[in-house]
Amino acid sequence: MAGQPYQLKDVTWKTVRATEYQVAVLPWGATEAHNFQLPYGTDNYESEHVARESARRAWEKGARVVVLPGIPYGVNTGQLDIRLCINMNPGTQAAVLGDIARSLEGQRIRKLLVLNGHGGNDFRQMIRELQPSCGVFISAINWWNCLDPASYFAEPGDHAGELETSAMLHIAPELVLPLSDAGEGKARKFKVAGLREGWAWAPREWSKVTDDTGVGNPAKATLEKGEKFLNAVADRISGFLVDLAAADLDAMYE
Ligand SMILES: [Zn+2]
Repeated sequence: MAGQPYQLKDVTWKTVRATEYQVAVLPWGATEAHNFQLPYGTDNYESEHVARESARRAWEKGARVVVLPGIPYGVNTGQLDIRLCINMNPGTQAAVLGDIARSLEGQRIRKLLVLNGHGGNDFRQMIRELQPSCGVFISAINWWNCLDPASYFAEPGDHAGELETSAMLHIAPELVLPLSDAGEGKARKFKVAGLREGWAWAPREWSKVTDDTGVGNPAKATLEKGEKFLNAVADRISGFLVDLAAADLDAMYE
């Protein structure tokens, strides 16, 4: 059985040669501990699932979108003391992103979406630096907050909480351990008021913030919540992909 034409890792040159792809999607995750109930690859499963579902829906509406194989390493400088959390520095990520974008340039695929699945990744400054020297239009979406999660979850959480655990119960339930195994994902706050209140920012030292590596309580996670949220996210992102595919790069402003 042939692979789906929107999933590059599954298709052959026969399909690629015959398809005028308009937009490439690059899922970008991380390899890190996610409390006791979710696997290290959670951010990769999530970003690849959302990329594939969004591309499938966009394809049904006529947009020729292709999902590239995902990058499984994120910025994890605050988790280096947690065994097998693997860090890829922002500078390395910028080099990887540049190589991928320049590969697409000249292959008539001039639109690239980075679909981010990890809170420690931030592609905006990399894209600003890359854009003037690269003929590919690059955009970025964080899949977990392209919609307000507040109407889907009691307490979404930052990391391995209700949102992510619900999402994984839908994507790969066989990899989620019983919620009775999970810690509460309790996070210690900064003592400095500005940092605690969130209007000043500094990266957090993860193992000083949380005992179970989670930030956010997964107790109210359900498969149904995950399915509902992920469907809404895929609908929204597929709409973006359809718009982006149709957009004239020389006339991007109203
Ligand atoms: Zn995660």
